[in-house]
Amino acid sequence: MIIHSIETFSVAVPLTKPFKTALRTVTIAESIFVKITTEDGFIGWGEAPPTHVITGDSLGSIKFAVEQVIGPQLLGLDLRHSERVFQKLHRSMVGNPSAKAALDMALHDLLGQLAGLPLVTLLGGYRDTIETDFTVSVNDAVEMADDAARYVRNGFNVLKIKVGIDDIAKDVERIRAIREKIGYETKLRLDANQGWEAKEAVRAIGQMEDAGLDIELIEQPVKARDIEGLQHVTLHTHTPIMADESIFSPKDALHVLQTRAADLINIKLMKAGGIYQALKINALAESYGVECMTGSMIETKLGISAAAHFAASQPNVTRFDFDAPLMLAEDIVEGGVVFDGRHIRFSHEPGLGIHTDLMNLRFSSKG
Ligand code: MG
Repeated sequence: MIIHSIETFSVAVPLTKPFKTALRTVTIAESIFVKITTEDGFIGWGEAPPTHVITGDSLGSIKFAVEQVIGPQLLGLDLRHSERVFQKLHRSMVGNPSAKAALDMALHDLLGQLAGLPLVTLLGGYRDTIETDFTVSVNDAVEMADDAARYVRNGFNVLKIKVGIDDIAKDVERIRAIREKIGYETKLRLDANQGWEAKEAVRAIGQMEDAGLDIELIEQPVKARDIEGLQHVTLHTHTPIMADESIFSPKDALHVLQTRAADLINIKLMKAGGIYQALKINALAESYGVECMTGSMIETKLGISAAAHFAASQPNVTRFDFDAPLMLAEDIVEGGVVFDGRHIRFSHEPGLGIHTDLMNLRFSSKG
């Protein structure tokens, strides 16, 4: 299985409703699809959306890194020596985790095909199906409560609420409004996307605890690099705290784990640089007794399929945040994982099961 060619395609799909967090507002999901073809005619697919405010990757940088820097170094390598391929991928240039993730996904798709197994099975096959939460964007309290009620009616039993965009009194009011509207059956997890200062976060979380708003966990309350602040929040609140933007690499994870700066970790392929590194982060977390969630950026079903195959394969990944494809006005990817409301199922096809010849790329231009 020798790597013969690597191509990129630009895609864009509108969202049904703007996705608003403390960091950004997204109305169109843009992405780079990566296609790796082997000499014996196997095809592997990967995806990288640009998430400037989190990873620093842009459409242009992803395309350049794949086509001009990393890709040429992978050509001619044999996937039967996959460790050599992944070592080359990660040593080919610094940074650019999303470009690396797209290539890593396509390589894992091929490894599944080489083994004749769905990727989830090849990686360990721990779960047969998984369930995703659904995200409520930051808006005023009434709109968020209405959105939350609609998602619950649509069958979602875990909601991820975006907060941290303005002041904490408003965030507490938003969560209170949601609880009043939907009751206490539904799990609520919060994501501040770095929007609070450490002391502010302790105050906000304390107020929610005192009000009995029953929050499952809070993601990334403080700035990505503020590990001391993250540790302060974790030490001074009862609600479990999850590190997201603070952890890209296994080394980042080790630092957070050793300093007990968070109770949980959110692994995303776009931060980690793909499944190869995500497995290492998860193994480190597991050795510290820290469970992981796997989430995504605003991605199509292609990127989510790779993330879901990874997440379902590992017992230590216990939470799944894979709603991004459900926010898109159209599903442009044929094959991959199957969504049925909050349930995600895997096909029995080898690799990621992406149907290349059926893929609707009419929004796209070949790169
Ligand atoms: Mg997050």
